[in-house]
Amino acid sequence: MEKRFDPWSSNIQNYESAFDEFGLSKFNDNLKLNHYFFERNIIIAHRDFDKVYKKIKEKKPFVQMTGIATSGKLHLGHKIDIDLFVFFSKFKNSKNYFALSDIDAYCSREKIKSMEEAKKYAVNNLAHILALGVPLKAIYAQSKKEPRYYEFIFEISKKITKNMFEAVYGHLDLGKIEASLLQYADILHPQLKEYEGKMPSLTGIGLDQDSHARMTRDLARKFNLELSSFIYFLHQSGLRQGSKMSSSMPETAIYLDDSQQEIKKKIQHAFTGGLTSAEEQRKKGGNPDICKVHEILKFHNPDTKFVKEIYERCRKGNILCGECKQICSDFVSDMLKKHQEKVKKFIPIANKFY
Ligand code: SF4
Repeated sequence: MEKRFDPWSSNIQNYESAFDEFGLSKFNDNLKLNHYFFERNIIIAHRDFDKVYKKIKEKKPFVQMTGIATSGKLHLGHKIDIDLFVFFSKFKNSKNYFALSDIDAYCSREKIKSMEEAKKYAVNNLAHILALGVPLKAIYAQSKKEPRYYEFIFEISKKITKNMFEAVYGHLDLGKIEASLLQYADILHPQLKEYEGKMPSLTGIGLDQDSHARMTRDLARKFNLELSSFIYFLHQSGLRQGSKMSSSMPETAIYLDDSQQEIKKKIQHAFTGGLTSAEEQRKKGGNPDICKVHEILKFHNPDTKFVKEIYERCRKGNILCGECKQICSDFVSDMLKKHQEKVKKFIPIANKFY
């Protein structure tokens, strides 16, 4: 059977084998851009990123596209994808497309019982996305797209056979087939002549989404479009040991609209790399590499010097988990308090959007 990641449930642990098995390229230093995601190896792999990098350096147009399935509240894990989009949107010649994937959320997530519910989440998500800095003009809702987009979805469906789909995903679940068709169209439609025309395009995804990437590139060939480029970022894991940060497990995630008390409580209960006694930890040092508290700082605190300093102090036993959790809790509380203030301003715009 063909090796594959499951985009709807995978929790990938062994990244190294993924490079060999799926032919992804690692980032050389000469392709890295000036963002801590690159510096801290949060972005770990790519397919054809060099094409987009060249356009950035030449100040020529390229498309960047991402989307969020509007199936729940946004958490810190989603913020990484959005931060990355905001970073690329600042390049002068970037043509930005951000999908509120409301139909995708309805079709592929069992818990979403109606389109109305998906749209309700979309309004909430939109206020957060705008507050994080995504330009309003980049954003569209799948359910409100123009007819050409939908025509294109049907054109795509004629290029995929049942066997192809099953070989890539290992199932023929109708809702997930629909959601996949939408995702291919989301990534490829900006290259149609009715939009930007044929040009390199960039989408940031987690490794577990690679099946979509491979299928999208295959379709690009069939439509004589530029093969889509992808960069792969690490997912922030959940706050409990071995867990994924997931909307369906509230105790594993810090939501962007969590209260100060909730943030504090969740960080207090997070899994750390600390040792059983303070004395032992002072002597031997902790393990920040497995610590969820350090992971929050690594993914969200832009001050690299500070994040490194905590890492070193932990390793040497110069800081204990209580103090470290307090520092992290203060940082997240402050960051999300400012964010939530901005969200309030964007709620009326989000309400008007649908
Ligand atoms: Fe984690 Fe900080 Fe404890 Fe080190 S000191 S294990 S980084 S909480």
